[in-house]
Amino acid sequence: MSHRKGACLCGAVSYTLSGEPRAIALCHCSHCKKQSGSAFSFNLVVRESDYQQSGDTTVYLDTGDSGEPVHRHFCAKCGSPLFARIAAAPGKVILKAGTLDSLEGLRPLAEIYTAQAVPWLDAVEGAQRFPQNQ
Ligand SMILES: [Zn+2]
Repeated sequence: MSHRKGACLCGAVSYTLSGEPRAIALCHCSHCKKQSGSAFSFNLVVRESDYQQSGDTTVYLDTGDSGEPVHRHFCAKCGSPLFARIAAAPGKVILKAGTLDSLEGLRPLAEIYTAQAVPWLDAVEGAQRFPQNQ
């Protein structure tokens, strides 16, 4: 079983990830752009039981396309987004991959909300594309 470690920028929140991600995807939606301050986000879908956190996050309650709540967790000290919990994926944590200490071996297998992707970004080779959510 693989173990990965991650943390926010300041280190106030850290975590260990065990097991393998259930999905690895880029998300091009407008909310991910806003929250990341970038053109897209790089997300891992992991089992709740595989995610062990140390330190406390602050939650921003967002709303997804479905109208269901999206709980976006971030570090209140440095502002790093760490993960989200969404009603549509019970028992899962949507982890912001950029907070991992190493991205080695992690390659996106899907891209979602590609209808909102910036036009200058090429498709990731081998990744399935979904215009909206998958
Ligand atoms: Zn922090």
